[in-house]
Amino acid sequence: MKHKSLLSAVLAAIMLLVTFCSCDIADFFEETTSDFTPDMYVHFLDVGQGDSIFIELPTGKTMLIDAGENYHGEAIISYISDRGYDKIDYLVGTHPHSDHIGSMAYIVRNFKIGSVYLPKVTSNTVMYEKLLEAVEKKNRKVKNGRAGITIAKDEEKDFSAKIIAPVEINEKNLNNSSVMIIIDYKESTFLFTGDAEKEELKTVKADVTADVLKVGHHGSRNANPEFFLKKVSPQIAVISCGVDNDYGHPHKETLKYLEKLNCEVYRTDKDGTVTVYTDGEKLGVDTGGQVMERAK
Ligand SMILES: [Zn+2]
Repeated sequence: MKHKSLLSAVLAAIMLLVTFCSCDIADFFEETTSDFTPDMYVHFLDVGQGDSIFIELPTGKTMLIDAGENYHGEAIISYISDRGYDKIDYLVGTHPHSDHIGSMAYIVRNFKIGSVYLPKVTSNTVMYEKLLEAVEKKNRKVKNGRAGITIAKDEEKDFSAKIIAPVEINEKNLNNSSVMIIIDYKESTFLFTGDAEKEELKTVKADVTADVLKVGHHGSRNANPEFFLKKVSPQIAVISCGVDNDYGHPHKETLKYLEKLNCEVYRTDKDGTVTVYTDGEKLGVDTGGQVMERAK
């Protein structure tokens, strides 16, 4: 009897401990996800096989890098509006391919726009012409997106957004005219590479070390040579690609190199919209965000 009551006392104690522990663990998780107040959010929108990245900058301004295919415009605009913004202060088209600037003319026509940056290519696709037309109609001038340009800077906030490529334009392979952007905010650095391949990556003179990397060209092996990924050496890598896409993106070589670097890899085909947030020092990641509207 004595033993039995001792046993039940021990069991009760364990139960109590487990209950307390599970509370503690829950509290702990809650705390670790909210122990800092982020003031910069980078949303890698799930636009399938394409790119579109919406950024809430610590200055209160916004940036959109690329705009998916031509059927994503409405969803991108409502995503931005839902976050409480009515203007894209800096709009960047990395290069004139449909999976990057597909919805850009629509967005220019239907939303408030500040500065527009594009690489200075002589592409004459209808889509590109329409984008230039839309920008002109809004009485805006396209700014030359090339290495050396500072898009935004705020010394007090210790923040800057700079273009580090293209150093030179490649008309034959527009991927290699991609506008590459580096954002520095206090201790954290974000690198956006568009679809730049090996050839363009080799020309970059700026320091590309970054905490967060938008993996180049949807994870293609041509855009992710080991020498470059090693230079970046990110903690977090985000791949924007479509479910079962025709190109086999991301390529296994890219995934292997990233694994070697021991970084966290997120993919829009698996994780939906991925949001990386920071206070300039700590980083956090949310996955499972909204999937942008597909073709009707
Ligand atoms: Zn692309």
